[in-house]
Amino acid sequence: MAQNLILLGATGSIGQSTLDVVARHPDRYTVRALSAHRAADGLLALCLKHAPRYAVLSGMAEEGSVRRKFAEAGCRTELLFGAAALERLAADPEGDIVMAAIVGAAGLPSTIAAARAGKRVLLANKEALVMAGPLFMQAVRQSGATLLPIDSEHNAVFQCFTERRLVRKIVLTASGGPFRTAPLERLAQVTPEEACAHPNWAMGRKISVDSATMMNKGLEVIEACWLFEMPPERIEVVIHPQSIVHSLVEYLDGSMIAQLSNPDMRVPIAHALGFPERIESGARSLDLAQVGSLSFEPPDPERFPCLGLAYAALRAGGTAPAALNAANEVAVAAFLDGRLRYTAIPGVIAHALERSAAGPADSLEAVLEADRLARRLANERIAARGSERLGALGGRAA
Ligand code: NAD
Ligand code: MG
Repeated sequence: MAQNLILLGATGSIGQSTLDVVARHPDRYTVRALSAHRAADGLLALCLKHAPRYAVLSGMAEEGSVRRKFAEAGCRTELLFGAAALERLAADPEGDIVMAAIVGAAGLPSTIAAARAGKRVLLANKEALVMAGPLFMQAVRQSGATLLPIDSEHNAVFQCFTERRLVRKIVLTASGGPFRTAPLERLAQVTPEEACAHPNWAMGRKISVDSATMMNKGLEVIEACWLFEMPPERIEVVIHPQSIVHSLVEYLDGSMIAQLSNPDMRVPIAHALGFPERIESGARSLDLAQVGSLSFEPPDPERFPCLGLAYAALRAGGTAPAALNAANEVAVAAFLDGRLRYTAIPGVIAHALERSAAGPADSLEAVLEADRLARRLANERIAARGSERLGALGGRAA
């Protein structure tokens, strides 16, 4: 019988790739629910194509005109409004698989609700695990949920992680993003468009900026610690600009096992959907001779200070990763908005981390409180920098 899929974040980059894979296997998967934040037209188009039972606009209150638009288009999907509907759908008894593909901390309540309800959770929303790793993993264990990583690196590790006890270390690869070789003095001037022009992957804007700063890799190191129960010192990061080797695992005997493919998120998505079977993803087969050579280099801490901040938050433990994530979200949003220079992002995060003492992350409330405090600290820092800059320019806009 076909499995029912609840897809949270359907209008995003991971959402689209998921629907592309699912549409190749109508006998295996039925789309039961789709969500978008405010993109009503995008969601309507997806509902007309995939005919889910439910659709959610999580960032909107009840809106008659949107409801009418769906009805006039002949859409028979039941439309729900508001963020609370995400949690209800994530725990829907008829749902078998929940793809958690909302971006940022906003995805935490629904992602954890899916884990608590014992679903097969396909985790793209890494921020949820970064914020609340121990709580999340406890929910998975208690409910008997199956957690499968969608992040290409963690999916690669999962595929290579056959003899867990005998693993010496995990090596996460990183592309180095669009500014890997840019002169350091140019970074203060880079624009959001340049930061979002990733050399190998087409992704949402937030994760694209995170890839440029390498905060994405920092979040992924934290994600890997929780997912694979590994201490930080056994997780390494190496830059691999071609994005062909998605990560590696080293065993006690010195063997390294890697997973390779073209950079196409449909590969890990199809892996997690089909596991333990393999299903077609639509991705092109990898032509190694055409790729020619694969290269690796260490990350430069001066160019990528965010990576060090993530390791520091991981070592501080407790609510520090939640604070790191929150401050990063605020700083990235400000950069995308033209309110903060690219090179000021790490300073904002460091400021918030230094001023928020890490307490135990033993409840969702404690995690959300740390998130709120770090957002406030980061916003204050950005506002202060903005007025400094205005002052320096004699009152003209920076
Ligand atoms: P995106 O920006 O393209 O899409 C985000 C989705 O979340 C959209 O459907 C949007 O409507 C929804 N959304 C946005 N804000 C929301 C809010 N406040 N509440 C509820 N829904 C909201 O992002 P993406 O690139 O698809 O990334 C999604 C997640 O997957 C992120 O956590 C990202 O780190 C992770 N991820 C993405 C990729 C990739 O290739 N895009 C790779 C690995 C991991
Ligand atoms: Mg990744």
